[in-house]
Amino acid sequence: MSTALLVSARTILRGPVTDRIDDGAVLSVDGTITAVGRRAEVEAAAPPGTVHHDHPDATLLPGLVDGHVHLALEPGRDPFRAAREDDDATLEAAMRRAAATLLGAGVTTVRDLGDRGYLALRVRDAIAAGTVPGPRVLAAGAPLTPPGGHCHVLGGVVDGPVEIAERIAEHAAAGVDLIKVMASGGQSTTGGATMWESQFDRAELALVVEEAARHGLRVAAHAHGTQSITDAVAAGVATVEHCTWMNGPGTSDQRPEVVADMAGRGIVACTGSSADWRRLGALIGDDERAFALMSRVRGLAEAGVRVVPGTDAGLSPFDALPAALGRHRDFGFSAAEILDMATSGAADALGLGAVTGRLAPGLAADLLVVDGDPVDELDRLTDVRMVVAAGRVAA
Ligand SMILES: [Zn+2]
Repeated sequence: MSTALLVSARTILRGPVTDRIDDGAVLSVDGTITAVGRRAEVEAAAPPGTVHHDHPDATLLPGLVDGHVHLALEPGRDPFRAAREDDDATLEAAMRRAAATLLGAGVTTVRDLGDRGYLALRVRDAIAAGTVPGPRVLAAGAPLTPPGGHCHVLGGVVDGPVEIAERIAEHAAAGVDLIKVMASGGQSTTGGATMWESQFDRAELALVVEEAARHGLRVAAHAHGTQSITDAVAAGVATVEHCTWMNGPGTSDQRPEVVADMAGRGIVACTGSSADWRRLGALIGDDERAFALMSRVRGLAEAGVRVVPGTDAGLSPFDALPAALGRHRDFGFSAAEILDMATSGAADALGLGAVTGRLAPGLAADLLVVDGDPVDELDRLTDVRMVVAAGRVAA
């Protein structure tokens, strides 16, 4: 028996958000959008037994994409505690709760860029089967990192080219959706490379891209350091995570020729942060530097680089995306630009444009209903009325 759902709203933002329908509706049959348009027309197309949800003073838009999360981490003082200590069943249960929290915030697609023991793939499959609520998950498995390197506790340690190829083959056999490599060090791991130091050289990163491509997989490279970004881009990764251009303690060096290369080759920058520059400013005692670090995405976008918002949830709270998007106004983006970045733009950039990110027949019924009009008032994104993921009503 098929399941049909009709959601109507005062305004439909089809994606891009400038494409508006007043008094509109979306019809979903078995998880796929079959009609979008004026409410009367969509209602006429609804099969018998369709469940109706009417939101006459709300806005319906595509579900949000969080480009960078870690279901296996816990926001708080020791984000890696559960990944270090808990058994698989306990950790997987926590990851399911994290997935439900993401969904409640209107997020219907995430990339999990580092789990332990392929647990994010299990959560992904349970969500896809409809047994637990959550967003669509693209999972990378454990990130490739050198011995003692950034996030080595997750289990993706590789030492040299043979192990790189072996680990990628193992990930591919397990069914990952992409490969994550820690090109530079990171903040949350003590010992090993600093954030601005490289963990892999250009030849090793090129090998990662080549071996991943052999299995039909794209590569996401965590890269804070200017050299690591330069090498990851030269190696041809699909996305650069964080992309903060650090070249020393408290200093940065954004290279225009590398930015131009990213724009020209369609290499995506994923923010991988809560965008909470005020909090970072308080932490490092330097508001100006914190703002410069986090607002860099505006310059990248202006240079033609596709920017995907990602919160690094797990280090940030799992419902952090709407607030993070709000902060992008401080960086000079309009509400419409931000909403497009987090929906159709992100879906296109992550290779999911034929799956989600817009409200159009044939795409997954990933729907977010919020009070008011978020194009006028972006903060309305937190006033969630209803979330539908692949046709299933979640909240
Ligand atoms: Zn991360």
